[in-house]
Amino acid sequence: MTGTLHIVGAGLAGLAAAVAAAKAGTRVAVHEAAGHAGGRCRSFRDEKLDRIIDNGSHLVLGANRTTLAYAQATGGIEAMVAAEPCFPFVDLTTGARWMVTPKRLPAGIGEILSALGLPWIRRSETVASRLGRSRSFTRLWQPMCEAIMNTAPADASARMFAWTMRRALLGGTKALIPWTFPLGLSAALVAPALATLGSFGAEVHFRRRLLSVTAEALTFDTAIVPLTPDDKVILALPPWVLSAVLPTGSPEMQTRPIVNAHFRLDYPVALPGKSHFLGLVNAAGHWLFARGDVLSVTVSAADALADRPNDEIAALLWDEASRAIGLAPAPVPLARIMKERRATLAHDQTTIANRPGPRTANPNLFLAGDWIESPWPCTIEAAISSGLAAARLVTNRADLVFEQ
Ligand SMILES: Cc1cc2nc3c(=O)[nH]c(=O)nc-3n(C[C@H](O)[C@H](O)[C@H](O)COP(=O)(O)OP(=O)(O)OC[C@H]3O[C@@H](n4cnc5c(N)ncnc54)[C@H](O)[C@@H]3O)c2cc1C
Repeated sequence: MTGTLHIVGAGLAGLAAAVAAAKAGTRVAVHEAAGHAGGRCRSFRDEKLDRIIDNGSHLVLGANRTTLAYAQATGGIEAMVAAEPCFPFVDLTTGARWMVTPKRLPAGIGEILSALGLPWIRRSETVASRLGRSRSFTRLWQPMCEAIMNTAPADASARMFAWTMRRALLGGTKALIPWTFPLGLSAALVAPALATLGSFGAEVHFRRRLLSVTAEALTFDTAIVPLTPDDKVILALPPWVLSAVLPTGSPEMQTRPIVNAHFRLDYPVALPGKSHFLGLVNAAGHWLFARGDVLSVTVSAADALADRPNDEIAALLWDEASRAIGLAPAPVPLARIMKERRATLAHDQTTIANRPGPRTANPNLFLAGDWIESPWPCTIEAAISSGLAAARLVTNRADLVFEQ
């Protein structure tokens, strides 16, 4: 293209679109409302804990190939760590501990086939209606569903769940390799992308909130950017923002919260088996993550928890976490509670059927974001893939990939 590609929103979808397009030789300008990039996937210095923490602990799997290609292309992969494909769990009611590995799934073949979508899944089926009575529901399918889809099994689409299970379980051992972010999300997924954009001469404008968009201009709170017929625009914004800036609006989408508790201890956190994470079953908390002296607890589909006061949440999750890793009872340490009230879409049948595609009625205006129609639930992989897909449309290059 000969004009400028304007990308609004510097979350992972916007950054991925910008990196792919800039590397393909397109003139790129990114406009972001916040004073930083990364959106729902970012790190920041927390003054109370005096540590760099993430808004929420994130994990990607080897099956998330587009994410890994993006991280390779920007150099961010150097700040990511691949672990053995072993997922340790503890049941806080019984004290039982077990490990899920590609060769040791705690489920019979019938359940596994059912989770993979065999035989055929009806559109209306939920993860609970399909797998709720299976032997391994509590030990395997429920934690996987909540972690991947941020939606309770009673609401989560069984079709979408099956698609993610096929990618993870049928993709070979590599697909189940967990990748973590020991230096934080921004060091791996955000700062290297900004550096890459800088090296291609792309402009990145922070503190520019888009108010409206027409074929002639992008109107921000602090600037008006005129558009020529050669310019193109990708709006990489979440649905609740898009409905306010687009003249046509956008469908209202149900969302789900994620709550994270970060505890700063006086010593390095050690999880059993030196793992970076530990799954909890029969507990309010879902996953523990260890990074240096910070122990973090993630609660997905946290509708009930998100409305409780922070000190109650901290006390509940600290009690569970310390029991899970065998610490002596102790008062709640320094804690930061992060409530992302609109962490992802609710992945129920109705909401996912309402997702728009990347094209709009204006041929120069495209959409990107984790919530744009795709087989993936709202994840890093969905966000980065949608950014790449929008860049392909804008550059008219269906073969565009993240080049090293
Ligand atoms: C706590 C938490 C834990 C998660 N865990 C995982 C995980 O383990 N694995 C995984 O794969 N995924 C996980 N996710 C999901 C993942 O973080 C998201 O899918 C992804 O970050 C979404 O990226 P995005 O670019 O689509 O949207 P966003 O990150 O929302 O980006 C949108 C950007 O637009 C900007 N913006 C908003 N309004 C305007 C405006 N008017 N003008 C200009 N800019 C604007 C925002 O500031 C933001 O930077 C998690 C999410 C959360 C919140």
